[in-house]
Amino acid sequence: EMEVAVKVVIVGNGAVGKSSMIQRYCRGTFTREYKKTIGVDFLERMLEVYDDPVRLMLWDTAGQEEFDAITKAYYRGAQACVLTFSTVDRASFQAVRHWKKKVEDECGTIPMVLVQNKIDLIDRAAIDAEEAEALARELKVRLYRSSVKEDLNVSQVFTYLAERYLAE
Ligand code: GDP
Ligand code: MG
Repeated sequence: EMEVAVKVVIVGNGAVGKSSMIQRYCRGTFTREYKKTIGVDFLERMLEVYDDPVRLMLWDTAGQEEFDAITKAYYRGAQACVLTFSTVDRASFQAVRHWKKKVEDECGTIPMVLVQNKIDLIDRAAIDAEEAEALARELKVRLYRSSVKEDLNVSQVFTYLAERYLAE
């Protein structure tokens, strides 16, 4: 039986928590330090979907989200995507459509999920709940609200994406 390996890209503006999400899911750790990169191209984690082993390779950008040449190479061959914004950063919410288009220009239609991270900071939210839900409907993707800090809804995001990928 062949093992399934899936390249997943995590996209979104700087500081929304992409590197933290990858570290949390693959290493079980969280740090407050703002790190520009996790220092490698990707981290991986095995999971089981419908009793079959799946290897998820989670690709991190080097914090150079603004450089097209770099992100193109990073997206190449991606089979699933996490669109991420931060609860306390309105610009990151407004940039989601742009990130989705960039990935689709390179990868075509692949399973995607929308993640509103830093939900632990909901008291300082810059986006209404209804706005986030409306965007998810418009983009036809499921919305998860996560806190990488509190380890809330992180593994659920990746389990969902793996299931979506296998269902294709
Ligand atoms: P990236 O630029 O998208 O890779 O963002 P990072 O993973 O480097 O995170 C940016 C900052 O946000 C860091 O200080 C993280 O510790 C912090 N951070 C990440 N996720 C959360 C979260 O869920 N809640 C809070 N409060 N902070 C977070
Ligand atoms: Mg990063």
